Amino acid sequence: MIRDFLRKFMSGRYGPDHLGTAMLVVSLVLSIVFQLLGLGFIGATVSYVLLALMLFRILSRNIAARRRENDRFLRFWGPARNKIKKRFARLRDFKTHKYFTCPGCHNTLRVPRGRGTLQITCPRCGERFVRKS
Ligand SMILES: [Zn+2]
Repeated sequence: MIRDFLRKFMSGRYGPDHLGTAMLVVSLVLSIVFQLLGLGFIGATVSYVLLALMLFRILSRNIAARRRENDRFLRFWGPARNKIKKRFARLRDFKTHKYFTCPGCHNTLRVPRGRGTLQITCPRCGERFVRKS
């Protein structure tokens, strides 16, 4: 019953997407952060605006425009997410590995810790440099 109703109601409408999920998460995080800062009213306002926008996009019938927005968001979020993932990987093996930047091509190289002074050869550009591991 409810499913049929929802299917009918949502037909021809855009529905949820990555940007919508991001708006939901951001609105939750912002409302918590503002609450902690003692600015709960501002947090509530911002998060309601974001939630209203999210709902508007889900219910929108202008599917092409919503898709374009989502594509634009993913173009920015894809690389940002990779950077965040790399940061976490670094934190995770902080105790076992050291990271260096190649002086030749700025490639990031990972080396096991505690091997003394190493001559490192960059696999990308072949630059050689010496670092303490
Ligand atoms: Zn290099």
